[in-house]
Amino acid sequence: MKWQGGGWDLEVLVTGYPGKAVLHGGLGWSTVVLLRGHGRIVVLDGGGYGLRRPLAEHLKQRGIALSDVTDLLISHSHHDHSVNWPMFRQARIWIGRVELAWALGVPWGETSVPEHTIEALSRWPTLQLMDDGDEVLPGIVARLAPGHTPGHLIFVMTGDRQDCVLLQDAVKNRVELTTRRTDMTYDPAVSRATIDMVWEICRERPGCLLIPGHDLPMVVENGVPRPIGTQQAGIRAWFGGSLDETTRYDLGPLEGTP
Ligand SMILES: [Zn+2]
Repeated sequence: MKWQGGGWDLEVLVTGYPGKAVLHGGLGWSTVVLLRGHGRIVVLDGGGYGLRRPLAEHLKQRGIALSDVTDLLISHSHHDHSVNWPMFRQARIWIGRVELAWALGVPWGETSVPEHTIEALSRWPTLQLMDDGDEVLPGIVARLAPGHTPGHLIFVMTGDRQDCVLLQDAVKNRVELTTRRTDMTYDPAVSRATIDMVWEICRERPGCLLIPGHDLPMVVENGVPRPIGTQQAGIRAWFGGSLDETTRYDLGPLEGTP
C-alpha cells in the first residue's frame, strides 16, 4: 500500500501479522515502511532476522541498495523491529532517548529486547536520539506512545489530503485500537492512554491513515477503522519425503471473517 503527503512517498514494504504461534511464542512478523522524499530514503524498523533477505530484495526491486538508505527510524527496541539496524549501519539510526535508556537497563534474558544489538547501537557513531515532539525529518513528528515499551515512539505525518500515523506496536492491530485493550504491555492503563491519544489524533485528522505494527493499514472513517487490502501470510513445511515437497498453510483470516 502507498501514501503520499508532505513531500513524502510512503510504501508499506512488509505488512505485519496479527498473531502468535500456538506453541512457539511471538512470530515477530512486523510492519516495515519505506519513505522517500526530501532527498532522503527512510526505512521504519526493519523486521526480524528472518526478514533480512526479503527486505533487501524489496529494496532492490525499487532500485535501492542498502547503502542508499539515509535514515532508519526505530519505533522501539524489541527484536522484531530493531535487530536489523546493522543492514543500514551507514545511515543515521534514530531511536527514542527514553526507549534506548530503558532497553539498556532491562535484565538480560527476560524481555524481547536484543540486548547485544541495542548495546552496540548505543555506541554506534551515526546514532541519533529522538524526543517526544521532535520533527525528526521534514513533516515527520515523533510522539511518545508508551505502554508496549516505556519509550515507544509513533510518527505523525501531515499529508496534502490525508494524514498518516505510523503506530507500530503502540497499537499493534485493529482489535487493540477498537477495544483499547492490549496484548504485551507493561501497564494496560498506560497503553490505554496511548490508544486514547491515537483516537484524539484521528479526531483531529479525519480520514487519517493508520499503519500498525502487526496488522493491515487502516483508514478511520466516522470513528471506525477500515482495513485496507487483505492479510497475506502463510508457511511452507517439510512433512513429505523430499525437499521439493512442501505443504503450504495459508494464515489469512477464514472466509467470512470481517
Ligand atoms: Zn514490540
